[in-house]
Amino acid sequence: MESLRDKYEVVIGLEVHAQLKTKSKIFAPDGTEFGKEPNSETSPITLGMPGVLPVLNREVVNMGILTGLALNCEIPERCKFDRKQYFYPDLPKGYQISQYDEPICVNGHIDIKGKRIGITRAHLEEDAGKLVHAGAAGLAGSSYSLVDLNRAGTPLLEIVSEPDMRSAEEARMYMEELRNIVRYIGVCDGNLEEGSMRCDANISIMPKGSKVFGTRAEIKNVNSFSALQRAIEYEIDRQIEIVEDGGEVVQETRLWDDNARVTKSMRGKEDAHDYRYFPEPDLMPLHISREWVQEIKDKMPELPEAKRQRYMGLGLSEYDSSVIVEQMGLALFFDEVLKLGATPKIAVNFIMGEIAAYLKEEHIEITDTKLTPENLAELISLIEKNTISNNIGKQIIIDMMKTGEKASSIVEKRGLSQITDENAIKEIVQKVVDANPQQVSAYKGGKTQLLGFFVGQVMKETKGRANPKAVNDLLKEILG
Ligand code: ADP
Ligand code: MG
Repeated sequence: MESLRDKYEVVIGLEVHAQLKTKSKIFAPDGTEFGKEPNSETSPITLGMPGVLPVLNREVVNMGILTGLALNCEIPERCKFDRKQYFYPDLPKGYQISQYDEPICVNGHIDIKGKRIGITRAHLEEDAGKLVHAGAAGLAGSSYSLVDLNRAGTPLLEIVSEPDMRSAEEARMYMEELRNIVRYIGVCDGNLEEGSMRCDANISIMPKGSKVFGTRAEIKNVNSFSALQRAIEYEIDRQIEIVEDGGEVVQETRLWDDNARVTKSMRGKEDAHDYRYFPEPDLMPLHISREWVQEIKDKMPELPEAKRQRYMGLGLSEYDSSVIVEQMGLALFFDEVLKLGATPKIAVNFIMGEIAAYLKEEHIEITDTKLTPENLAELISLIEKNTISNNIGKQIIIDMMKTGEKASSIVEKRGLSQITDENAIKEIVQKVVDANPQQVSAYKGGKTQLLGFFVGQVMKETKGRANPKAVNDLLKEILG
């Protein structure tokens, strides 16, 4: 397969649905909180009763504009809503209110490691309900299904990319950056596993050098970044095999099965005319004034790429900067610590080191711990003032997260402050040298790498409190 892959170019475009984090639904006052009792967050509007009218939630539009601006889109002065007709048991009205030919955002892009990926459009729409396949499971699965309409009417922004990606890895990076952006601007949780962000991947292949795109297949049901990459890799190979066998790829929707690691045909792809779109008669076209757009632009928080660049400007490596930006909780915490004047490099070593490891182990977020930015900044200042060694800092940071205690108080209580008094250290160094005559003669005979052994013994003796540089200097002096 590897060599066959060289004959083809892969073309990928993604359609990403981001669930907007508003308190109420896009056209109705029902709440949007996840995990409520089935059908408790509904209203006659959501249920699609005759005679009800949708009312557009202004906050949805604010979030749509904010996202569009973050994705370098134009926000046209006018957009409108349309009815998209299809029948499915989780869609009580028999149509979905969406935007067809006049979406809220157009012509954007984001840059992924210097490569520009175009964003064709982003449009607002309402989500459908959920089918719960609850009946006793026989061989064919559930014997009946229940409908939960709590999710119906939840606002979505569908972000449609240009077919600009050329590999599964690029698609994954695009998706990750999109997730970073919506999370940092606060419009979406960006949780693929829970479905607050969903991705359909359109994939086609064409002979290398060709300018004519092949027929695409659309892959649904990818619930993680790694699944997205796996699904695309699988689909590329499937299409190559078809073409190599003299067949033709058909335009269709396929479902990714992450357990079996295959895509399966779900249905032929509907064309736009199958949906019989027409302008939503119950909603006026929306006029978005330039003042409105400006007001939102003024509130734009720092975007992930700007954050990475700023961190690199502080002396962090590109890798460290990217890793910390991927974990928004840590990045926001880091920013707070920086505001307090802490040295970036030391702060990042703690955050990416002991702190990140502890959070991972406990499956918690930094905000679930008792560590405050003030306390981390104080710890760092103790290290810089040579009151404690870096090693002692690493030893107490976990306790600080668990108890919320200040570094200075732990240091005082446990007598952890660094021994900088040269005479005191000299005494201990001498004691260690006297206690290890064999190692001393080996060292003097040329085995200088034994210096580390002596340093270790002194540190053990002082419980890590001796100043490492002083220990090294004194050992060299005494051992000659
Ligand atoms: P639909 O709703 O019918 O899927 P959209 O226009 O909403 O159509 O989305 C089409 C998506 O497919 C876009 O992301 C676009 O970039 C992508 N796409 C279009 N043509 C191709 C192709 N030949 N190969 C891969 N992706 C494609
Ligand atoms: Mg689409």
